[in-house]
Amino acid sequence: MYTNVMYYILNRCFQTIKGLFCHLIFQTLVRWMLTVRKNYRNVAYHNWRHAFNVCQVIYATMKNCKTQRLLNDREILALIVACLCHDLDHRGTNNAFQHKTSSALAQLYGTKATLENHHFNHALMILNSEGHNIFINFSSEEYSELISLLKHAILATDLSLHLQIRQKFFAMTEQGDSIDWDDRDIKEIFRSILMTTCDIAAITKPWEVSRRVADLVMTEFFDQGDKEREELKIQPQAHMDREKQDELPKLQLGWIDGICLPLYKHLVLLDPSFKPMLDGILENRALWEELDIDRLTKQASIDSGV
Ligand SMILES: [Zn+2]
Repeated sequence: MYTNVMYYILNRCFQTIKGLFCHLIFQTLVRWMLTVRKNYRNVAYHNWRHAFNVCQVIYATMKNCKTQRLLNDREILALIVACLCHDLDHRGTNNAFQHKTSSALAQLYGTKATLENHHFNHALMILNSEGHNIFINFSSEEYSELISLLKHAILATDLSLHLQIRQKFFAMTEQGDSIDWDDRDIKEIFRSILMTTCDIAAITKPWEVSRRVADLVMTEFFDQGDKEREELKIQPQAHMDREKQDELPKLQLGWIDGICLPLYKHLVLLDPSFKPMLDGILENRALWEELDIDRLTKQASIDSGV
């Protein structure tokens, strides 16, 4: 998989370069990717493994869905690079935590998409480090366009932004074949939606994988909840409260019904080749529902003293 993605980026960035130069450029790509990996922290969920998984999904999407023909080469390249970089230097705490603690990041980037701005700036810092510029063969105009696409794609992984954009996307999918793909705004909405589609795609994967990822997310959330309780002396939200960990199935159902299902259902309306992802969610939802029924049954018997 590493090799597939590397060659894909290599082809997109450097396809006109041959021979000795190609070797030097391949070194740049390897150096860049290793540095990106090194700049993910050892947190439970938002680590290099997550970034690479997100990249794998965009790669699979570009290979298997008709989506690829809607985007040009530079847009695809920016999306792939954005997936690898979109959570760079994540500290295992969310935007709300940055604001509550007035962290250095909140002071630096303000209260809007705090972390996402940091991830983008970190990506830019790596790109500008000596021997790391994988976009070196593009003209200055193309370079500016790539950076702008990269920024837009990384900022789009802010879920609060997704909630604003998705209504426009849902309306778009109702238009069927009459969508104007030459419209810049339409393309921008679509690229944003693709980033979220890949970022949260663990919910579409086979149960063993999806379940394991849910546990990793919860581990990170509980760590934040512990900090909030111990350091900030506040009651964490239910999904970050270790004392409510038995509510995981209920929380997963809320996540699936509120965020995931609407998104993937509309993606399938736009392009039926996304259907395996929707099917995966529905299978996982059924299993979470079974676990939730078990939980409620146990709770009812405790409450009734049986
Ligand atoms: Zn992510």
